[in-house]
Amino acid sequence: MRIDIITLFPEMFEPVLNESIIGRAQKSGVIEIVCHQLRDYAFDKHRRVDDTPYGGGMGMLMKAEPIALCFEDICKQTGTKPHFVYMSPQGKTLTQKRLKELSEIENICILCGHYEGVDQRLLDTFIDEEISIGDYVLTGGELPAMVFADALARMVPGVLSNNECFTEESHFNGLLEYPQYTKPSEWRGIEVPEVLLSGHHANIDKWRKEKSLEVTKQKRPDLLENN
Ligand code: SAM
Repeated sequence: MRIDIITLFPEMFEPVLNESIIGRAQKSGVIEIVCHQLRDYAFDKHRRVDDTPYGGGMGMLMKAEPIALCFEDICKQTGTKPHFVYMSPQGKTLTQKRLKELSEIENICILCGHYEGVDQRLLDTFIDEEISIGDYVLTGGELPAMVFADALARMVPGVLSNNECFTEESHFNGLLEYPQYTKPSEWRGIEVPEVLLSGHHANIDKWRKEKSLEVTKQKRPDLLENN
């Protein structure tokens, strides 16, 4: 998978997406993440990427043309038309289910908004999908794009050492994950549930399924209602 990110702050991404699991996946070539500086595509007299909104009002808006030129350049570079996602508080809230579907797309391009957002004409003509990371407003699309790119990349086969890493996790099958424990088996007088030390795989699986349901009922009953 290749993920292109259009942003005014490409330097924000390096320390996050070039480290740890996603960093290693990039080095091994399973995924490629390319950040593009939007200012490089501002070719008008003043090289501006933003301007005041028609009709008045607070703040600035990102202009349509630099984003269009940047996306068209990405299409040329990749030889394809990536699925173009705008990170926006007005989008559908990101879910594991949608991530699963999107992880099957080979090329995804993410637009990070800033200021008061983006000229509507660009959104109407170029954007395939708006995605929100929750019902609150951040100052820019960079943090949402990092959340999206990280969550998306880990669903790509070969990024995690074993696919079970995510198929067993919270939200993959609509439930939250069961409780987990590591060494020592007794910590400050609290013992690990005996079944986990038994080596009996069928009993362990049964215990985990029951706990998963119990934890979901307790912490997120709404997930069970939606199933
Ligand atoms: N004026 C816009 C509105 O009311 O819908 C909000 C603009 S926000 C201050 C600036 C940028 O941050 C947005 O263009 C978007 O890219 C990003 N952003 C803010 N909150 C977000 C969220 N919850 N999910 C995804 N992106 C978000």
